Amino acid sequence: ETQPGLLRFIACGSVDDGKSTLLGRLLYDAGAVPDDQLDALARDSRAGPLDFSLLTDGLDAERQQGITIDVAYRYFQTARRAFIVADCPGHEQYTRNMATGASGADLAVVLIDARKGVLPQTRRHTYICALLGVREVVLAVNKMDLVGGRREVYDEIVAAYRELAASLGIAAVRCLPVIAPEGDNVGSRSTRMPWYDGPSLLELLEAAQPASARFADFRLPVQWVNRPDESFRGYAGTLCGGAVAPGDEIVVQPGMQRARVARIVTADGDLSCAVEGQAVTLTLDRELDIIRGDVLACAARPAPVSDQFAAHLLWLGDEALLPNRTYELKLGTRSVHARVSSIKHKVDVNSQAELAARRLELNEVGYCNLDLDQPVPFERYADNRTLGGFILVDRQSQATVACGMLDFALRRATNVH
Ligand code: GDP
Repeated sequence: ETQPGLLRFIACGSVDDGKSTLLGRLLYDAGAVPDDQLDALARDSRAGPLDFSLLTDGLDAERQQGITIDVAYRYFQTARRAFIVADCPGHEQYTRNMATGASGADLAVVLIDARKGVLPQTRRHTYICALLGVREVVLAVNKMDLVGGRREVYDEIVAAYRELAASLGIAAVRCLPVIAPEGDNVGSRSTRMPWYDGPSLLELLEAAQPASARFADFRLPVQWVNRPDESFRGYAGTLCGGAVAPGDEIVVQPGMQRARVARIVTADGDLSCAVEGQAVTLTLDRELDIIRGDVLACAARPAPVSDQFAAHLLWLGDEALLPNRTYELKLGTRSVHARVSSIKHKVDVNSQAELAARRLELNEVGYCNLDLDQPVPFERYADNRTLGGFILVDRQSQATVACGMLDFALRRATNVH
């Protein structure tokens, strides 16, 4: 059996659904809480049962204001797998934090309070996850003890959620009933809900094989050109698609210069092949003019190139989006100037209704047309997060004001040289 790879997941829930408790309990059951922290936990929980939420409520501000102010990433490991969990605040105005967490996640754990069922927040969380390219959800129906562990309650919530997820394009949903503080179906299977005979949350996460956004064709955005002396010129970056081997014919985009790969150089010696996710340095069989931001792609199926796009924008700036203002757009390793030429509509994140809009405010999602000052190689975000995902940066303040999910080119560049 091969070891499953690192799983990045995001935990979503509304305030008080029990997210901190569930994550704390998960870390505890995974054996990921060091002894000194366990001692402190016992102390802080006083004489009562262990309060697992104390393991994850790390940020003081949250305790004081009842909200979490940023995304917390936690790494943990079991004998079977390593995990990075993005713990995002449940509060409504922090959609931007959720988007940050979701953008890097393969899977989302969506939490529902069994007493409350599917809420508008549940819909919003699922929509943001879907928008940011999360393709698999584990639905944890929590607080089952407070509904007497009743199967009918669970079944009803699961049916409602499956319908919701399907309407947002998420087909892969696994569901389970949990009681977070007691650890029922968290690290081990519950004996109190015998009608559920599926895996625990930890088992589910250990076995998850999210239909990943693996992209078949070779793509390498050039991070930097390594030229220590006249005899060596290498192009360093991380493959965001496909595989490459010495001898392969590639093109340098957005231009269309061709070359063959000579060597794949790494700190541990040359490779005979590199695959998506690997950071390498390529050398080519001829001297070409290549700069940071160019994309090396397989010659047979290069990336499309354009300077006009339709994209979803999630507005993260405190100041509203100003159409026709010029922003810096960063896509892959490339940075260009761009303006939003029109807001086609905005999307109500709670209902997904499309509304007319002249501006986009903080935490709003809009479907927009963008105009770039030069053509760039790209892919659809749904196909490739690296070459389809971008951010907009305010040129004065240098603040990130939006993340963008590229949908398609409004015009294809034909002769780019
Ligand atoms: P968060 O705001 O989503 O992080 O929620 P917390 O983890 O802080 O939990 C909110 C409250 O619900 C706390 O008082 C928890 O002890 C309680 N809680 C969490 N999970 C359960 C559960 O499964 N059953 C019961 N009875 N209470 C729970």
